[in-house]
Amino acid sequence: MPPRTAVFFHAHPDDEALLTAGTMAMLAAEGHRVVLVVATAGERGLAEIGPGEELRETRLKELYESAALLGCARVECLGYGDSGLSPKGGIAEERPDNAFIDADTEAAARALAAILEEEKADLLSIYDPAGGYGHPDHVQVHRVGKRAAQIAGTEIVLEATVNRDPLVRLLRLAGRVYKFPPEFDVRTFESAYSANDAITHRVNVRRYTRQKRASMAAHASQATGGDSDRTLAVVLKVPGPLYRLVFGTEWYVRRDLPPGTRLTHPFDRWPK
Ligand SMILES: [Zn+2]
Repeated sequence: MPPRTAVFFHAHPDDEALLTAGTMAMLAAEGHRVVLVVATAGERGLAEIGPGEELRETRLKELYESAALLGCARVECLGYGDSGLSPKGGIAEERPDNAFIDADTEAAARALAAILEEEKADLLSIYDPAGGYGHPDHVQVHRVGKRAAQIAGTEIVLEATVNRDPLVRLLRLAGRVYKFPPEFDVRTFESAYSANDAITHRVNVRRYTRQKRASMAAHASQATGGDSDRTLAVVLKVPGPLYRLVFGTEWYVRRDLPPGTRLTHPFDRWPK
């Protein structure tokens, strides 16, 4: 396969580590050009480090480190404000003037499309329409990314997601031995991300889980201290063999392929 270019669009630094790091490392190792674009610097992350400018710089530094570990050739931040999350999980009332969710979709899409055109990107990775678990900035990534691909004429658009069926089964099982905090409701996951049947790409990234884990660890400001229930903090405690099992697959939905399609590589042709 001749080298091609893949652009991964994410909302905040650390989203790439959790959702697409294995695929990015795999494509880079295969000789493809991998570009990482984030909409925001994630400056509304762990507040106890001090939100705002200082956290913004820390998180961008962590992003560059993660990107280097994954073999990215280029990293860009569109410079929107992190919209944050209300304590109940919806849109935060207090948010910066340039919050990503308040951005004009067309203008944001043009900014991303300019990168896609410059890179002559063959592939753009975005999120599913629900933004996975529903973070408003993640929903916006779907909208903006979809439009940017239209403007730039990008051939392959993949929606990075999680196969929720095994996830819900695992959480139900865990719920029998572990008491989740009261605000944690397994039922929210029943409609989050994507059902098994909707998934078109199952990418085996077990060979790249070491890099994926290192990429997660690079986002130290989100993984240590403060609230110990942070996803990254929990995930980084998972022992190696289990980590490979749980994080050894990454899932994508390509909407222009018929449901039931089962591909294993982002650049797989269809029909084969
Ligand atoms: Zn995010």
